[in-house]
This record gives sequence, C-alpha cells and structure tokens, in this order.
Amino acid sequence: MKQPVIDIPSIDLDEVLNEYTTDPHFPRKVNGIVQSILKELSALQKTMELHSIRVGYIIAEDDGVATYIAESREDAIILLDARAHEEEARKDFITPERTLHDGLKSSIVHEMGHAYLDSKGLETRYHDEDVVENFARDYCDDGDDAKSIAILNDFIKRS
Ligand SMILES: [Zn+2]
Repeated sequence: MKQPVIDIPSIDLDEVLNEYTTDPHFPRKVNGIVQSILKELSALQKTMELHSIRVGYIIAEDDGVATYIAESREDAIILLDARAHEEEARKDFITPERTLHDGLKSSIVHEMGHAYLDSKGLETRYHDEDVVENFARDYCDDGDDAKSIAILNDFIKRS
C-alpha cells in the first residue's frame, strides 16, 4: 500500500523557540489579530509560493520587533514581539487598534519578503533591508500582489 505523503517542515518551530526568550503571556488579543492578518494575506502567500507561515512569539532582545528564521523558506517561521507591537500602537491615541493591526501586518509581510528571497535561493545575508521594506510598504499601501512581488524579483535579478 502506498504511504500518504506527509509534509514535514524542515525546521521545527518549537526547537527554534528554545533558542529565544519566549513570551508565555503574550497578549492573546495579538494572536487573534495575527491569525486574521494571515487570512488576509493568504492570496499573497499563495502567489509567493509560501506553503505555510508559522508564527512564534518572543521577547526581542534588540530593537527588532520581528524576525524571519533563515532557511525556513516555504514553511516560513516568523517570530514576533507582540508586546513591542502593542507598545508602539499605544502611542497612537486615536486609532491604536488600527495601528496595531497595520504594524503587525507590515511586520509579517516584511518577513514574508525574506522568506520569498530565501526560497528563491538568495541567502538572508544577501538580503537588502530597504528592498524588503519597500516590498512590504508597497503591498500594505496598494495590496497588489504582482506589483509588490516584482520589487523582490527585480532585486533577485540584480543579485
Ligand atoms: Zn528584514
């Protein structure tokens, strides 16, 4: 009998999290928002040929509020500092909820940009932060998958 094909991601999220300071009391509200953002981004994810996006919550030791785990590629692992995002959003007295959503979304799209470049064979040490941030900003502003991904493809061609 033929065995069913089981996709096992190359990198285990729990093993990755062992190497970080995790946030056991991460605000549940943030995870709810993140899950809805991932749904919003499912078309983009598909166009970028990212098989899965796995999110872990950490307390960042430096200024970075989000990290892409190198070599997780099509089964992208993104680590988010939920508290840092919340603190940033709290500075917005008028629409903190919207700011939190938009901040998380732009972080996730940015890290998806790294996952995409990595999946196309460009190691993270060759990534240009400005290009990846440009991609994220362009997508968050216009929501045009193809136009934004072209920014990354242009960079791959030049590399
Ligand atoms: Zn980056």
